Amino acid sequence: MRIVYVNGHFVPEDEAKISVFDRGFLFADAIYEVTSVADGKMIDFEAHMARLKRSMRELDFEISFDNDELRSLHQEIIDQNDLAEGVIYLQVTRGAADRDFNFSEMTGSASVVLFSQVKKLVENPSAKIGASVQLVEDKRWLRADIKTVQLLYSSLVKTRAIKAGFDDVWMHRDGLITEGSSSNVYIVNDQSEIITHQLNDTVLHGITRRAVLAVAESLQMKVIERAFSIEELLSAKEAFATSASGFVNPVVNVENHAIGGGAPGPVSTALRNEYMRTSMKMV
Ligand code: PMP
Repeated sequence: MRIVYVNGHFVPEDEAKISVFDRGFLFADAIYEVTSVADGKMIDFEAHMARLKRSMRELDFEISFDNDELRSLHQEIIDQNDLAEGVIYLQVTRGAADRDFNFSEMTGSASVVLFSQVKKLVENPSAKIGASVQLVEDKRWLRADIKTVQLLYSSLVKTRAIKAGFDDVWMHRDGLITEGSSSNVYIVNDQSEIITHQLNDTVLHGITRRAVLAVAESLQMKVIERAFSIEELLSAKEAFATSASGFVNPVVNVENHAIGGGAPGPVSTALRNEYMRTSMKMV
């Protein structure tokens, strides 16, 4: 059984408890981070914690955390669960209080939860064959840059896409692609340029995005940060997605149109390999 962390205690998962008045439960008043672990080591931990703090500031959370404290909580989860490969999920909610839209009178303090999930990250069969995606309108709130737990829209459309035979969804707003259900997304055009949505309030500022764009630069690939249209996607040479737990994942089918001949292309493959080599120090 997993050992999880809840508000100051490491306990077996079936003993972990959160109040029914927790605002994370009642209002989705909570933010989270997912940090990958490969070979027992965390990838890009500091960047994930920096984004956690930014999310908290954007939502007027009044507390903050010390990075060393957060690092030791993560390390304890790895150690207590013998986690070699997978993810650590961290959630911070505003805490428990009588149900009230107004949280300015709250006296309770934040709830903090951590748990691990075992997951194969390195040997991912989908990365070898490429994924299929369905396109759906992006109907999320316009602060997708804040990593909140209000994920119902993305969860609903992904579930429906899987029922319809696709692996995931990519979302669009005004004809322009924003991001995947839980990934940043990219195309490669005829000039071998990589195009991905610019950072603003409508997309999450992906930690893997930042690392992969640095890798692209180190490989002398040209990157353009702007939104691309559905038409550009359908005629792209390659398409791929990035996320902390997926690394770089080629997309070879969009709404039943083959992209790049229906197989992962050289740019996504090179980026995946080089990202894994540099982020996990795997040679
Ligand atoms: N966009 C969304 C909506 C996500 O949920 C995620 C996954 N956290 C990403 C992008 C990718 O971000 P990261 O590389 O930090 O995992």
